[in-house]
Amino acid sequence: MKTKKSQKLYKKGLKHLVGAVNSPVRAFNSVGGNPIFIKKAHKSHITDVDNNKYVDFVLSYGPMILGHGHKKVVKAVKKASNKGFSFGASTKGEIKLAKMVCDAFPVMDKVRFVNSGTEAVLSALRLARAFTGKNKIIKFSGCYHGHSDSLLVAAGSGLATLSIPGSKGVPNDAVKNTLIAEYNNIESVEKHLEENQDIAAIILEPIAGNMGVVLPTEEFIQGLNELAKKHQVLIIADEVMSGFRSKFGGAYEKIGLQADIICLGKVIGGGMPVGAYGARNEIMQMVSPLGKMYQAGTLSGNPIAMASGIATLKELKKQNPYLFFNKTAEKIEGFLKDAATKNGIAIQVNRYGSMINVFFTDKTVTDFPSAQTANTTDFGIFFWEMMENGVFIPPSQFEAWFLSTTLSDKDLKKTEKAIFKAMEKVKTKK
Ligand SMILES: *Cc1c(COP(=O)(O)O)cnc(C)c1O
Repeated sequence: MKTKKSQKLYKKGLKHLVGAVNSPVRAFNSVGGNPIFIKKAHKSHITDVDNNKYVDFVLSYGPMILGHGHKKVVKAVKKASNKGFSFGASTKGEIKLAKMVCDAFPVMDKVRFVNSGTEAVLSALRLARAFTGKNKIIKFSGCYHGHSDSLLVAAGSGLATLSIPGSKGVPNDAVKNTLIAEYNNIESVEKHLEENQDIAAIILEPIAGNMGVVLPTEEFIQGLNELAKKHQVLIIADEVMSGFRSKFGGAYEKIGLQADIICLGKVIGGGMPVGAYGARNEIMQMVSPLGKMYQAGTLSGNPIAMASGIATLKELKKQNPYLFFNKTAEKIEGFLKDAATKNGIAIQVNRYGSMINVFFTDKTVTDFPSAQTANTTDFGIFFWEMMENGVFIPPSQFEAWFLSTTLSDKDLKKTEKAIFKAMEKVKTKK
């Protein structure tokens, strides 16, 4: 694998960009080595500046569910951009995407579009506080909800369970209202609710994807539903990642979570910056201009981004790829397990719809502490050998791999081969 041009750009990028990246997940820190620079992508493939071509399981961390450059999406974006980039006034596309999203998420009567998942979630928290008149929120260790101050606690970092900021620059005051509970552990939630009268909401990823993929137990979800009702707190389902992964709509519905507020991002923009939060009318009435909770955005509901989102969701609905996602993920799970067994390596594979990932551990992964038992050195070896064999997966064990509708049998063959080589490499380097 040649990386000469990427290395050169990396050095150049260091001068005026922080670490030569605009998001730390792109920095390859946790696998050792420097980031690659991308030239272009088409369907299931992505090509770097050194002309290495990979099967892409990063997919921009989720948005490119139709693969790169889907004809209809590109056409819609081109058409919209010819009409103007941004107006500071309403457009028809916003109404159209709002209807599509509300139809797909029955608990949402109304939606507000923003520009990122981070923005969606921080607005949703404000909304929950405005609606309940209470201040505290419960968050689960290992769940990531964007980089706003009050949510940078136990966000997949090592600072689990204590309400200590997970980042420098976050004041202790900003996280004092964030209570941490353990995923799949209902007692840890109940304890907070019994000790505090001031809790506005419980926020969770209905399917966790930011500590690697972790599925909730039925008991956990039912427990949350009951506790929320009993203590009159809202449930915020952060579906920025899980939305549209295993059905057209939300994971909350499939797992029976009685969510009050939904947060969206990633897929609904089809690769353009879009986030959204929504709820039933009673709650959304709080939001300005109808109500007294202020939240605004110069580029929110941007016409080009709306066009991209509409075209993406329309195509996704038409293709209904969810059976394909399941079957494909099942195949990849099989490759991983067979290759691991062959080489005597202990792994866990967790998956949900178009999300899947591998943990190098012999422990079943059900929460953040068990995810943390995974061996990151082994993953680093695995990662680079996957790259070497033309498969691009996220450069961290604690990120989901994403599937797109454009994956071909040939791509899967290549993936299978790469997985076997990579597991072999892990074994020989041990
Ligand atoms: C990606 C993600 C976010 C943050 O979205 P950005 O668009 O990166 O700000 C929030 N919550 C979840 C569950 C996510 O996966």
